[in-house]
Amino acid sequence: MTTDTPRAACDVCVVGSANLDLVARAARLPGPGETVLGSDFAEHPGGKGLNQAVAAARSGATTAFVGAVGTDHAGDRLCAVAAGEGIDVAALATSPTPTGRALIGVDDHAENSIIVVPGANGTVTADQVTATMPSALVVLVQLEIPVEAVGAALATARSTGARTVLNPAPAARLPADLLALCDVVVPNEHELALVGGVDALLDAGVGAVVVTLGARGVRVVTAHSVTDVRAFPVVPVDTTGAGDSFCGALSARLAAGDDLLDAVRYASAAGALATTVAGAVPSLPRADAVWELLNAAG
Ligand code: ADP
Repeated sequence: MTTDTPRAACDVCVVGSANLDLVARAARLPGPGETVLGSDFAEHPGGKGLNQAVAAARSGATTAFVGAVGTDHAGDRLCAVAAGEGIDVAALATSPTPTGRALIGVDDHAENSIIVVPGANGTVTADQVTATMPSALVVLVQLEIPVEAVGAALATARSTGARTVLNPAPAARLPADLLALCDVVVPNEHELALVGGVDALLDAGVGAVVVTLGARGVRVVTAHSVTDVRAFPVVPVDTTGAGDSFCGALSARLAAGDDLLDAVRYASAAGALATTVAGAVPSLPRADAVWELLNAAG
């Protein structure tokens, strides 16, 4: 008699935010009460959840995205972007609340000012996540949706044997019982300080802390080891999306069966490549480009 091992519905399930970024350029940013004439306008898909789902999909993982968008043009646009990347959006809810948006002003010195309106992202509930999340080998979450929904994603993942990855961005102090559900936490240096430091994370039961250090690479800390992984030398033009590229790529490789340090090395190459192209989603590299950089580095 054979026993069927239940198969996961996908490699990586990302539970998180999706925004439409509205970017206006002007010679200088307006002060309070002031109107300035802009020179250029563009709409881009964004939100850490969607960015990281695209990154995972481009690294070859079958990927699902769980979150919420409004019943509006922005929501349609984001669904189309995800579907165009082959991402399963069956569990992407539609909400009467408008799609999340980021209003971004950029001046001639590349200085920016940003207003983020979470909108539908703030309506994702724990019940929705528990009821709709497909099974996955790796579940990846960030903190741009309500923390109860993040907790539900991690708890559901654990109950089905999935590996859990938390990118604690934007950084917030988190309850120890939520951290105890995380196999891997991926903060940058700034976020690490705000979540309480490596020891606090390990003491709470996190399996491994992967600290991203920009051009200085990555430090991987477990209860038993500290390992530094160097950055790949590139000529950066825009570092937007490096962290999202890293997290999505890391999750894809963990789902593919890599051990943590191999997955970190791949993710570091994916993060480096993301800095060489402007924007977030356009900069997220495909697997063939990442392997090329890894092989060239030997
Ligand atoms: P975040 O965007 O979240 O602040 P980082 O800037 O730390 O994240 O970038 C994530 C990862 O991307 C880094 O750990 C590194 O591996 C890679 N990376 C980022 N910037 C560079 C760079 N200038 N050169 C090479 N690799 C980089």
